[in-house]
Amino acid sequence: MRIVVDLTRCQAYAQCVFLAPQVFELHGEEALLYSADVPDEQLDRVRQAVVACPVRAILLGEEVGVGVR
Ligand code: SF4
Repeated sequence: MRIVVDLTRCQAYAQCVFLAPQVFELHGEEALLYSADVPDEQLDRVRQAVVACPVRAILLGEEVGVGVR
């Protein structure tokens, strides 16, 4: 499953890092790094991160726009 994080929205609250540390990583105070290709075993954690993100910056799978598979 693919994800995209809208980094213009992300405020580095780090909820996603807390919930899925193997997918999301914060570098410094506000640089979020993430793996766009989520392995199946991480999917539940990523779904929790999607819901937990205070600014709804994480888009998952079918919500991801044209050009991303
Ligand atoms: S939870 Fe949302 S705002 Fe916070 S670091 Fe993750 S994507 Fe950014």
